[in-house]
Amino acid sequence: ATKTADFIWFNGEMVPWADANVHVLTHAMHYGTSVFEGVRCYNTPNGPIVFRHREHAQRLKDSAKIYRFPIPYSVDDIMEATRETLRQNKLDSAYIRPLGFVGNVGLGVCPPADTEMDLIIAAFPWGSYLGEEALENGVDAMISSWNRAAPNTIPTAAKAGGNYLSSLLVGGEARRHGYDEGIALSVDGYLSEGAGENIFVIKDGVLTTPPATSAILPGITRDSIMTIARDKGYDVREANIAREALYLADEIFMTGTAAEIVPVRTVDKIEIGCGKRGPITQDLQATYFGLFNGTTEDKWGWLDYVYPQ
Ligand code: PMP
Repeated sequence: ATKTADFIWFNGEMVPWADANVHVLTHAMHYGTSVFEGVRCYNTPNGPIVFRHREHAQRLKDSAKIYRFPIPYSVDDIMEATRETLRQNKLDSAYIRPLGFVGNVGLGVCPPADTEMDLIIAAFPWGSYLGEEALENGVDAMISSWNRAAPNTIPTAAKAGGNYLSSLLVGGEARRHGYDEGIALSVDGYLSEGAGENIFVIKDGVLTTPPATSAILPGITRDSIMTIARDKGYDVREANIAREALYLADEIFMTGTAAEIVPVRTVDKIEIGCGKRGPITQDLQATYFGLFNGTTEDKWGWLDYVYPQ
């Protein structure tokens, strides 16, 4: 990978970027046995913060737990290692990528029962995933011909490396057809999620998002937006959503750590609402980004300062 930071935290050591390598027989490379997070560090008026840091570290541990691979570091250890990675790289705004993986343990699919994961934490500058312009003007999305994995096949609540073959099919198909992003339905035909984002559909002032049973990754941005929207007095529901409800929505937006809060202006070339960012999306974006520019009070304790205050 092109060098974008000086050090990567690797099993407890700060390793120079160029030396953070693994063997070609690494188990995760053969069988997808990795779990990871996408976390963001924003520079606020009081210095850099990691957004919802504990929830991300906990989800990393939970993803590993589902597959019975312990990560030999506590949530607090992981958080301190992440802050130290930001400090060592002198980053005040970054995308952070913690990754647990089954390493060089031999080539059997099922590694020995006591196998612990290796852990790396990388951090580097990275703009909004679908582009800065998309935050204002919205994106064009298509419903993918690929469904999300059924609940009894691959657990979508684990943020595991192998799951992203599904995201690649959904997002890649969309891009080849000239769209910005792909949206997947669940195997029972209801709306699930974008290739790397959760989805909210707004109709008559009510915000609806697919429930955890729709084969989604329960996103931390999704949770933040649900909390913020309810706090602002909006009616927020988790319910099954039919494909055509997307076409008839007043507004649609997608949420994710990398993508942030992105309006969707068309789905399958059908204009959503007036075909540009709607007022509720704009209101929620302003409150969300306000957490980082100091205009929204952090009443939920979501900001973890990188340097002691
Ligand atoms: N769904 C998928 C498939 C994702 O990859 C992501 C990004 N992590 C999300 C949803 C959004 O999750 P979060 O808000 O926690 O980043």
